[in-house]
Amino acid sequence: MKTIIGLEIHCQLDTRTKLFCGCSTDYRDDAPNTHVCPVCLGLPGSLPRLNRKAVEYALRVGKALNCRIATEAEFSRKNYFYPDLSKGFQITQHNRPVAIEGYLDIEGDDGEKRVRITRVHMEEDPGRLIHKGGADRPRYTLVDDNRAGIPLIEIVTEPDLRSPKEARKFLTKMRATLEYLGVFDSEKEGSLRVDANISQEGHERVEVKNISSYKGVEKALIFEVTRQRNAIRRGQRIARETRHFVEARGITTSSRSKEMEQDYRYFPEPDLRPIRVCDWAAEIVLPELPDARRARFMEQYGCSLNHARTLTGELRLAEFFEKVADIDTALAATWIADTLLGELNYRDMSIVLVPLGQFRELLVLLKEGSITDKSGVEVLRVLLDQLKERGTCEGARECVDRLRLRVISATPSLSGEDPVLKAVQESIAEQPQAVADFRAGRKEALNFLVGMVMKKTRGCAKPGDVNRILLDLLEEA
Ligand code: ZN
Ligand code: MN
Repeated sequence: MKTIIGLEIHCQLDTRTKLFCGCSTDYRDDAPNTHVCPVCLGLPGSLPRLNRKAVEYALRVGKALNCRIATEAEFSRKNYFYPDLSKGFQITQHNRPVAIEGYLDIEGDDGEKRVRITRVHMEEDPGRLIHKGGADRPRYTLVDDNRAGIPLIEIVTEPDLRSPKEARKFLTKMRATLEYLGVFDSEKEGSLRVDANISQEGHERVEVKNISSYKGVEKALIFEVTRQRNAIRRGQRIARETRHFVEARGITTSSRSKEMEQDYRYFPEPDLRPIRVCDWAAEIVLPELPDARRARFMEQYGCSLNHARTLTGELRLAEFFEKVADIDTALAATWIADTLLGELNYRDMSIVLVPLGQFRELLVLLKEGSITDKSGVEVLRVLLDQLKERGTCEGARECVDRLRLRVISATPSLSGEDPVLKAVQESIAEQPQAVADFRAGRKEALNFLVGMVMKKTRGCAKPGDVNRILLDLLEEA
């Protein structure tokens, strides 16, 4: 059964002030309703004044997504009654959006794939509603208008995506592109929100709303594909409806869609004039975008395609890599893409929390051979745990010395006092079965013995030394 997915992405533009007034957009840690004025509260008689920067940002997005830019864009009123917008309508773009008919190339399920972009339009974010007593059956609802009037772009795709995984890959690329453009900050909570249209070929489509986290998208879509397929298998008809994603439970629930399907009675916003954007867009020079940076990383640093793709998949990760690459490009690429990233994901931490100085120190220790790879991972874990717990961490060298992780290297003469030699001798004495197995030609017994020695040396012996001495002694006897 073929799955068909199209996305609508709402993305907050990272301007300093709101779309139609001078209120600050930096509201996240502040008390409710402290970033408001007559305009964003929608008081009668107040007039909107368009934020020039927001238009420029929207044009950057339109250009980066290979869109046709409108000659003139125009704002419209979308009328609806809901407490998240007290003036009774949202200022958005309806008939004349800033940009249409673009595309974004992604690494899809079956290789390179072009996902078509239907349109990019600007609009204001509504206020935030806080339902007290749970979203299902709230006892009462609070309104916080700090978010009201934050500039948004809405990016609408054609139904070109074929699986939840592909949708996630598309969003990852989109998020990176928006960050590279300098118009969006993914670290801010709720700055990217997604609605998804999803169907099985030949059946009705369902709109899943309220996917408020980037990570929730794949989960919501996987749930919905399973739900729809099960229903079809049981011979049920898929209802065309709007469903709500309940993040905490990982499910979608039917929302009373009748109230949503109202006539918005769009009409041109009389308080704002159409804006000439085509010539303006032509003057905008785009920064380096993810694909270009990926190619540069392969060329300039000799990164593999996989490493280059991973490292450029997030702006801050790419920048972080470039700040440590001078130590050793291959070492830096491997340790960031293969180790650091996994450890961060495991702890649900972001790269912005990792102090550059400590990580550089760790790379230097690895580069000069002062610690083994195994110890390197251990140090990294200790430092990340400290960061997660208290926001700071000790130095990498300090940590290595405290945990006594400096590499033990076998002395060339291998006197009886050599700690590596001692550990090898002990292991051989303690594991006669493994020794016998090895001599009987079972090579995996050697790995077992290496593991024993590494354990005895707490991972501080060089694997090369251990192998060499083990083989010497095994063959000697
Ligand atoms: Zn305001
Ligand atoms: Mn919208």
